[in-house]
Amino acid sequence: MIAAEEILRRAEELRASLASCRLCAHRCGVNRLQGERGFCEATAQLEVSSECVHHGEEPVLMGREGVGNFFLAHCNMRCVYCQNHQISQTDRRFPRGEESVAESLLRFGEMGCPTAGFVSPTHYAPQILRAVGLAAEKGFDLPLIYNTNCYDSPELVRMLDGIFRIYLPDFRYWDDEYAVRYSSARGYREAAKAALKEMYQQVGGLEVGPDGVARSGVMVRLLVLPNGTSGTERILRYIAEELSTDVGISLLAQYNPVHRARDYPPLNRRLWRKEYASARKTLEELGFHSGYTQDLLPSPDSYLPDFERGDPFG
Ligand code: SF4
Repeated sequence: MIAAEEILRRAEELRASLASCRLCAHRCGVNRLQGERGFCEATAQLEVSSECVHHGEEPVLMGREGVGNFFLAHCNMRCVYCQNHQISQTDRRFPRGEESVAESLLRFGEMGCPTAGFVSPTHYAPQILRAVGLAAEKGFDLPLIYNTNCYDSPELVRMLDGIFRIYLPDFRYWDDEYAVRYSSARGYREAAKAALKEMYQQVGGLEVGPDGVARSGVMVRLLVLPNGTSGTERILRYIAEELSTDVGISLLAQYNPVHRARDYPPLNRRLWRKEYASARKTLEELGFHSGYTQDLLPSPDSYLPDFERGDPFG
């Protein structure tokens, strides 16, 4: 990690940018320092939904000890099927000082977590950097995970260089029409491509230590949506052709039609086994060699059960 002094300097610079916020591709331009709210509805006050040692991430990210995670309140996308809606789209939010987040980071290190992460961090990047800088002043140096929906502005991602060693972006859609309809994210594909390219330039493909836990790199999460809505196979081809098959891929089958998904017919059912199998076949054919996939059951038309045992691959 870069020096604490530089992290704190960038935190200040980013905080000043909240006077006309363009941290994500919505580029609202609102003055969050004066209490104005843009699409994400976050002000300049950091709000956290929860923090915990989390055992629900991909094994390569957490080992046996779990990842020390912060789940940030609010979100800069509004997915009708949000799998995390209890956290991101409700009133469950608690103001937190950056000093207290720094203390928690240090505690995660003392507890033996091999990594620490921020989930939905984009709109709180200035506050997060300040917390990390304060922790770094006291010796914090765990690999940090930036777990984002990839709707970040590339300028923001550049400011994270040398601070986050692991990027965990979702690449949600290939088709912009779906991104607007189901997540209110205009221009999503190009925004995600630009952010992902910057992430890859900084940290490269997924590097895993001898203990099986990631040390650095990009791992892209692909939640396969029903009826081809996510365009997963197009995204995989793009990553293979324009970036590299060194990028880790987490291919997720656990889509659940929760939140408002029942009102959106293409998304109002679980995933079929054959849909997941098709995406997985593409992943294998393209030669991706690290990440995480989920098991297959025999019937191609069966729905996938709630949570299946996952397989690290590579
Ligand atoms: S983080 Fe994104 S959604 Fe939130 S105010 Fe800034 S530009 Fe708008």
